[in-house]
Amino acid sequence: MFNMGKRRPRARHGKNVKCLRCGRAQAVIRKYGLMLCRQCFKLVAEELGFRNYS
Ligand SMILES: [Zn+2]
Repeated sequence: MFNMGKRRPRARHGKNVKCLRCGRAQAVIRKYGLMLCRQCFKLVAEELGFRNYS
């Protein structure tokens, strides 16, 4: 019962990549092997201290 608007069953790049943290498949960043969506990436990046170099 999750018909909210239209859904696209097709996957763009063949594989569905989901965020390891929240499970979303939207805007998942696979750079650096993180496999995180944008929001989680931001949170994790702050936790890791991405802003502070050196
Ligand atoms: Zn996420």
